[in-house]
Amino acid sequence: MKQQGILIIISGFAGVGKGTLVKRLVQKYERYALSISMTTRLPRPGEEDGREYFFVTKEKFEEQIAQQGLIEYASYCGNYYGTPRAYVEEQMAQGKDIILEIEIQGAMKVKERFPNAVLVYVLPPSAAELEMRLRGRATETEEKIKERLRRAAAESEGLEKYDYVIVNDDLDLCEQELHGILCAAHFTPKQNVSFIKELRNELKKFGKEDEKA
Ligand code: 5GP
Repeated sequence: MKQQGILIIISGFAGVGKGTLVKRLVQKYERYALSISMTTRLPRPGEEDGREYFFVTKEKFEEQIAQQGLIEYASYCGNYYGTPRAYVEEQMAQGKDIILEIEIQGAMKVKERFPNAVLVYVLPPSAAELEMRLRGRATETEEKIKERLRRAAAESEGLEKYDYVIVNDDLDLCEQELHGILCAAHFTPKQNVSFIKELRNELKKFGKEDEKA
């Protein structure tokens, strides 16, 4: 059975550690490719253009929207974020499992367009732990932290729309669980439609041969 690349969406509240998780997967396993988003937010200390994000102006972002250069985009805490189309299509064509680390509005748009996408939400062990991790980052103002916590409460309403939820308590364990889920996702019937169809057609020939005999 030839395995096709799958489209994977990883979401999670700000500060939950989903970025670290996804980077680990991509470094460890060749099968994964990570989509780099475009955003109008400013780089945080240590972030590089073209590595964490493509950092662009609002005008440039809107130009991309107009040219249909994005698979999806959303506004999050006052900034635009979007997934450039070309790279994702290229990687999927090469059979890679392409990971989109995006928030829930974008995730729902992708799910509509690509019904086979696998959606995973990364949760913190508790609300108190999430707040601690966000504060620990020390790159955000108090107002930004509060905004992100309010946003987490709102996003939590949509969790049932995801296929899987995992808890990021122990990073190693969480990474293993995520990889396990993504490996298993290859084996659902909806990811293997063409193989099933082909096999079914072959099997039907047996019936026809009996009819002839
Ligand atoms: P941050 O500013 O913390 O890097 O990201 C804020 C949120 O935007 C995160 O939830 C992240 O997953 C989401 N995000 C990053 N890139 C994209 C994107 O291309 N599209 C959408 N819809 N959300 C994104």
